[in-house]
Amino acid sequence: SEYVLEVQDLKKYFPIKSGILKRTVGYVRAVDGVSFQVKPGETLGIVGESGCGKSTTGRMIMRLTTPTSGKIILDGKDITHAKGEELRASRRKSQMVFQDPYASLNPRMSVGESIAEPLIVNKVLSKSEAFERAGELLKTVGLRASDINRYPHEFSGGQRQRIGIARALALNPKLIVADEAVSALDVSIQSQILNLLMDLKHQFNLSYLFISHNLAVVRHISDRVGVMYLGHLVEVGPKHSLYQDPLHPYTQALLSAAPEPRRTKRRERIILQGDVPSPANPPSGCPFHTRCPRVMDVCRQTMPKPVQVHPDHWVACHLHG
Ligand code: SF4
Ligand code: MG
Repeated sequence: SEYVLEVQDLKKYFPIKSGILKRTVGYVRAVDGVSFQVKPGETLGIVGESGCGKSTTGRMIMRLTTPTSGKIILDGKDITHAKGEELRASRRKSQMVFQDPYASLNPRMSVGESIAEPLIVNKVLSKSEAFERAGELLKTVGLRASDINRYPHEFSGGQRQRIGIARALALNPKLIVADEAVSALDVSIQSQILNLLMDLKHQFNLSYLFISHNLAVVRHISDRVGVMYLGHLVEVGPKHSLYQDPLHPYTQALLSAAPEPRRTKRRERIILQGDVPSPANPPSGCPFHTRCPRVMDVCRQTMPKPVQVHPDHWVACHLHG
């Protein structure tokens, strides 16, 4: 397959239960029909405000939560409903790096044990070989091989994230899903970890799905960027095209509010009215129409389909196409 990851019309609806009988009275449409691809060696950034469905998308790709509908194709295999050995095989190909490395590091396990664990559990290496590899992986992420005997609490936040990355690399994955991987770190440490991730990408020909609310961080690391709003991917394109010529009114508003270090042309700040609607009761037509400064009649009725405006640059908005 030409893609490491292909996601087709992916949806996740969480039932809303009510009363003592716990009847389903509605659904939270956390992800409502998202499609994209990630090529080998590529970083696709997914940006959006909290609650837009980006984390749920990442968790579905890792099969930590089961999709309601749609398809996930990882390395040419449909893993949407994979179970048992098939699911374990898919988990070796994709690994997750979390905001809080404590989510993947057991505080009572030495760093060596944490990194070696997936190798031992998956019977890839013997115990002694796995520990040797753990030491090598620590060097790969900028720590010392002798750190295998230390415990997570002995490390700083940035070092712990390096350990989390070493553990994610242990099984030679093709894809790493990083969800707010640097959001808990100081700004100076953030760029060190981003640069490490970029080095590792080239070294091991990795692909990343890099999820963050932070536009500057996503810009730093991504090749292409997708923007999510209320469970929908509203725009996706090459980084330079998207940041320099945002096409969707929501992307334009997000970028106008973000501080830009090397701002070439000054953008007028776009203030959006109102709040993000509830994903339990999303608007008809365009999901952004209740807040869009350029809303038209058609927007309230008809959901815009994605159209390609520049090479590889897609937008779902009635102003285009
Ligand atoms: Fe705004 Fe209409 Fe475009 Fe939606 S489709 S973003 S409401 S102009
Ligand atoms: Mg999140």
